Amino acid sequence: MKILLTGGAGFIGSAVVRHIIQNTQDSVVNLDSLTYAGNLESIAEVFDSPNYSFEQVDICDKNELKRVFDLHKPDCVMHLAAESHVDRSIDGPAAFIETNIVGTYCLLEAARSYWSRLPASKKDAFRFHHISTDEVYGDLEGVDDLFTETTSYAPSSPYSASKASSDHLVRAWQRTYGMPTLVTNCSNNYGPYHFPEKLIPLMILNALEGKALPVYGDGQQIRDWLYVEDHARALYTVLNKGEVGQTYNIGGHNEKANIDVVKTICSLLEELVPNKPEGIAAYSDLITYVTDRPGHDVRYAIDASKIEKELGWTPEETFESGIRKTVVWYLDNQPWWSRVLDGSYARERLGDQ
Ligand code: NAD
Repeated sequence: MKILLTGGAGFIGSAVVRHIIQNTQDSVVNLDSLTYAGNLESIAEVFDSPNYSFEQVDICDKNELKRVFDLHKPDCVMHLAAESHVDRSIDGPAAFIETNIVGTYCLLEAARSYWSRLPASKKDAFRFHHISTDEVYGDLEGVDDLFTETTSYAPSSPYSASKASSDHLVRAWQRTYGMPTLVTNCSNNYGPYHFPEKLIPLMILNALEGKALPVYGDGQQIRDWLYVEDHARALYTVLNKGEVGQTYNIGGHNEKANIDVVKTICSLLEELVPNKPEGIAAYSDLITYVTDRPGHDVRYAIDASKIEKELGWTPEETFESGIRKTVVWYLDNQPWWSRVLDGSYARERLGDQ
């Protein structure tokens, strides 16, 4: 099977590319425009595989999308390309509207045009798998409530509103045109190759440098955490076994308050890097509470029983095992993250050298 995967130089996309190339016979065409979040160094280990190819294309560029579909003739699409950082969406929503809504529309139209010309056997087997977030559901009030696939949409941020719009577009293309689609909504991912603007890598790297660990508000916001390699396996499972037109929620059964995530990172660093930066008695002394994010959702928690029961996927990592692996990965992979922190990953793109 040939998979056209968008956003394969990003955090989750790169994990999916590595998973497919290293564990299956399928081939991947990675379509990515390489924004600040795109880093080909995250997939360096699969670069030489004959099953991997790359197209530097913007999903808003209709002509380029048509060229890619006609050239590569994919059997299916996995759509991960997006603007993904909530804080950036508050400071500048335009890029989120453009990529997440207009870009998804352009990709849907390019896929539909290509799909409509496929022979009947390939047409039925075609899949357009849209990867989305649990943030489309807004936040939960009751401590026992969980997001299910039928929870109403109530997005809070420009990011989640743009992802909600894209989910609606995908379902409309299924309903109106009959194009075979799948939608997945997942919780917060963490793990190797995570861009250091996100909570977990930011805390690890700031702590190692003896910098403040900024925590929004009182730090009591609750998120469900999903190890990125568990998510990559889940996405591949849905692509292969999911029922057309269905939505699957993907979660890690790991609800944690943000402050507890930060404290866990601090205690792992106490154990793994006892030689602290000068003047620091304990990593947790670096925790600094900062003004809360506007519109900050209080609690997200996902009911992932549908994918578990119907498709047989379950997460392998607990939060404790996954966060330990993640901290160890950052300690072992300074060359990757120091090139992100100093910007050289973007100036000297792999493949351009
Ligand atoms: P990311 O920001 O790390 O990567 C996004 C990738 O998309 C980058 O490689 C970037 O270059 C590419 N891209 C951005 N705009 C593009 C455009 N116009 N054309 C082509 N490529 C473009 O994102 P991520 O964390 O890997 O998230 C992947 C998907 O999963 C997104 O759709 C996101 O909404 C969703 N998601 C992420 C999380 C999470 O915790 N990270 C949780 C739930 C859902």
